[in-house]
Amino acid sequence: MERMKHILVTLLLVSLLPHFAQAAEVKARTDFEGGSATIESIDQATKTIRFTPGGDPARGWACWWYLRVDGVAKDETLTLDLGASNKPTRNDGKLTPNPLAASWAMPDRATFSTDEKTWSHTAPGKRVDKRILYTVTGNGGPLWIAWGPPFTPRDTDKLLDYAIEKSPDSDIFELATTREKRTIKGLHVHESRILNPPVIWVHARQHAWESGASWVARGFTEWLVSEDEDALWLRANAEIFLIPIMDVDNVATGNGGKEADPRDHNRDWAEQPVYPEVAAAQKRLLALAKENRLSLFLDLHNPAPNDRQPFFFVGPEENLTPQAKEYRTKFLAETVTHINGPLPVEKKTRTTGASYHPLVKQISGMWVTANGNPDTVAACLETSWNTPHSTTAGYRTVGKQLGQAVTAYLRQQKK
Ligand SMILES: [Zn+2]
Repeated sequence: MERMKHILVTLLLVSLLPHFAQAAEVKARTDFEGGSATIESIDQATKTIRFTPGGDPARGWACWWYLRVDGVAKDETLTLDLGASNKPTRNDGKLTPNPLAASWAMPDRATFSTDEKTWSHTAPGKRVDKRILYTVTGNGGPLWIAWGPPFTPRDTDKLLDYAIEKSPDSDIFELATTREKRTIKGLHVHESRILNPPVIWVHARQHAWESGASWVARGFTEWLVSEDEDALWLRANAEIFLIPIMDVDNVATGNGGKEADPRDHNRDWAEQPVYPEVAAAQKRLLALAKENRLSLFLDLHNPAPNDRQPFFFVGPEENLTPQAKEYRTKFLAETVTHINGPLPVEKKTRTTGASYHPLVKQISGMWVTANGNPDTVAACLETSWNTPHSTTAGYRTVGKQLGQAVTAYLRQQKK
């Protein structure tokens, strides 16, 4: 009898085996640089992961998410069922009773990769109540899925190594060590042999979740170190500083950064900055202004979900010298000429005024205008993230076009 039972159990197990072998378990993880998600549930039968962004609102708006999924077979469909974070968010420098509006976390199309190198859009997600469902088809290996194309300190290292190889008269510099002891790196291009060359300063990701801004910076960098005639001219006629990620701490930990406690990174341009990287940037910029060499300061961001066209934020005209006003108009005209698609920049700028934010004077562009040389131009480029062209290719094209606009502007100044 015992023997019979044993045979029956063995037969049962053998008959179930192929079944088990086929259905690998879907697993999601975020234990890597930039990873972020709170997993609510995983339905193994339908291959559906329910989750929300995982960020801590004390470290910025919880809209960024980025997860790795294993166990999706080739040609199998994975469904990502995304809800908004339910944690009360901070706004205008204070904790509010409400969570962040869901739209910030929910692009029409999510971004995915099978190798962490090539990032593609998913098909448009399906909005159901306050959630959105994206689908991705498996290839048998791991899948990485995110709010937008990720760009983390690892990508900064790769980009900077590429750049110094292409442009021998450039160095990787360390801007600062962050509050959490990470290093902020940038590229310093100093090929120019002219006396006191004008300086172009470009930085991205004061708001950690705005990953598209780093891709614009990458496009600018790749173009800058290329053999393109305008790029060669710019390198011969200007000194350039480029920082792909400013808020490295929140990027590395998968937090949103914007409206972080105690201070939003881009409201920290005060006498006593909280962030060592802001203090370090101020010190370098002041030294350049003292030499009367700070020509352009460009701060790269991603805007709101419904801003479907890139645009510039600039400070009020009344804060500018007549010369800076004229120069800014000329620079912005060049951006409209050059940033002409697939993500064309709006001709109309938006003004960072007192009504926009109580800490308006502590915004980087405002600080630079107040502390630059008399003809310094400061502007913040907001590149749309919620369009079919908000891809690595689209962002990189904007970066290249921004470089071309900078060159055209400086060529004009020379005349
Ligand atoms: Zn921003």
